[in-house]
Amino acid sequence: MHYVSTRGGAPALDFEATMLTGLARDGGLYVPATVPQMSADEIAALGGLPYEEAAFRVMRPFVGDTFGEQELSDMIGRAYGAFRHDARAPLKQLTPNHFLLELFHGPTLAFKDFAMQLIGQLFQSALARQGRRACIVGATSGDTGSAAIEAFRGLDNVDVFILFPHGRVSEVQRRQMTTPEEANVHALAIEGHFDDAQARVKDMFNDHAFRDEVGLAAVNSINWARVLAQAVYYFTAAVSLGAPHRAVSFTVPTGNFGDVFAGYIAKRMGLPIGRLVVATNQNDILHRCLTTGRYEVEGVSPSISPSMDIQVSSNFERALFDVYDRDGAAVAQLMEELKGQGGFTLSQGALDRLRETFASGRASEDQTRAAIARTLEATGELLCPHSAVGVHVAEQVRDPHVPMVTLATAHPAKFPDAVAEATGRRPGLPPGMANLYERPERVTRVDNDLAAIENLIRERIAR
Ligand SMILES: *Cc1c(COP(=O)(O)O)cnc(C)c1O
Repeated sequence: MHYVSTRGGAPALDFEATMLTGLARDGGLYVPATVPQMSADEIAALGGLPYEEAAFRVMRPFVGDTFGEQELSDMIGRAYGAFRHDARAPLKQLTPNHFLLELFHGPTLAFKDFAMQLIGQLFQSALARQGRRACIVGATSGDTGSAAIEAFRGLDNVDVFILFPHGRVSEVQRRQMTTPEEANVHALAIEGHFDDAQARVKDMFNDHAFRDEVGLAAVNSINWARVLAQAVYYFTAAVSLGAPHRAVSFTVPTGNFGDVFAGYIAKRMGLPIGRLVVATNQNDILHRCLTTGRYEVEGVSPSISPSMDIQVSSNFERALFDVYDRDGAAVAQLMEELKGQGGFTLSQGALDRLRETFASGRASEDQTRAAIARTLEATGELLCPHSAVGVHVAEQVRDPHVPMVTLATAHPAKFPDAVAEATGRRPGLPPGMANLYERPERVTRVDNDLAAIENLIRERIAR
C-alpha cells in the first residue's frame, strides 16, 4: 500500500512514513495510490458489529504491513475506550429520513477525537519501534488542538505544540488546551486568524532543515491517518440505514474539508453514498467554489461556529487531485495561483466531476441560531453551532426519498454562549469535565513570525 503526493513531486511512501510525515516535501498532501475496495457483502457484514470491529475492517487494507492485525486491533480498542457512548458514533432521528450522527462523545467533545485518539496510539507505537522522538506541531481553530493535546499529553516520545488564534477560540476549547499539566504540552496563542496559524505550520514543514532538526510531524487534518479514521463512521451510519442495499447521503459541517473528504474516500471504497453536502458558515469559499467554479480567498469573518472559520481549505487539494485525473503538475499550478493571486478557476470538466459527488450550501449566523432553536423545539436535541449549520443546509438541499445523515461535529457544551443565545438554555459539560473552569491555565503568546516560533520550539523540546 503506497501513498503519493497530490503535487507529484515527492517520493511515494508507505502508511507509516505517510502518517509520520504529514505534509509531503513538495507541499502536497498524501493520498493512497489506489483506493482499496469493499464489496457489497463486506459492507453488509459490518451491520451490527461493535464500532471498533467495523473500524478495523475499514482501515486494515490501508495500513499495509505497518502494524500487525492484533496490534492494530488493540490500538483501535484503546483509542475508543475513553468515549462516553458505547456506540461511539450513535445515530439519532430528527425528522422522517433525516438523521443526526453524534460524533461528540469523545474526551474533548468534538469529532476530532475519532482521528486524534487513534493517531496518538499509532504514533506512540511507530515511534517506539523506531526508537525516536517526534515534535508534533499543529494549527487549530479550536477543536483539533484540544483533541491533539488530549491524545498526546504525557506520552514519552513526543512534544506537542499547538498554535491557536489568540482570542478566537471558545473558552472551553482554550481551557482544554491550556490546562493539561504535562511538560510535553505547549499551547501557543498566535496573533492572527486560524489561516495565519496554519500558514506558519506549513512554513515550518517547508523549512526542511528545521523539519529534520526537530523531527517535525503533523497531525493536522492534512494527516492521512486522520482522514482514514474518519471514513469509518460513514460506513457504520450508512449500514445502519440500509447500505449497501440503498444509498445514503451526508451533510458535513465543513472547514478544512477533512471530514467530508473522508466521506468521499468511503464512497470511493464502494459505500453507496448519494451526495456529500458541504455545509459552510459565512466563510463560504467552498460553497462559492462549488457554485461558480472560482476558488477565491476573501477575509475570514469570525462566526459562532469558529471551527469552520477558515478560507483556505487544505484537504480540498485531495479532491482536486482526483478531478484533475491525478495530474500533480496541474494541482501544483492551481496552488501556485492560489498563493500568487489569491484564487484559481476550475476547469469546467473538474467542476462537473466535483458536482457528481459534492453538493453545497451555506448558513448565515441567523440561520444557524434559528436551526438550533427549531431543532430543540421539534426534537429536544441541543445542537452545537457547527452541527446547526449542517442541519440548516441539509434541510435546504435534501431529497426526502434518500436518507440524509447530518454530522453533529461537536457537543453543545463546547460552545455554550452561542447555544444560550439561540435557545436561552446553557448546556452543561458532561460529568467528569466540570472542573475545567477551575484548573490553572498555561499558554505562551507568540507573534505571527516564523523565526520566532521556530526558536521557541527549539528551546522547548526535550532532546
Ligand atoms: C474541525 C471541525 C469542523 C470542520 O471539519 P473539517 O474536517 O475541517 O472540514 C466542523 N465542526 C467542528 C466542531 C470541528 O471541530
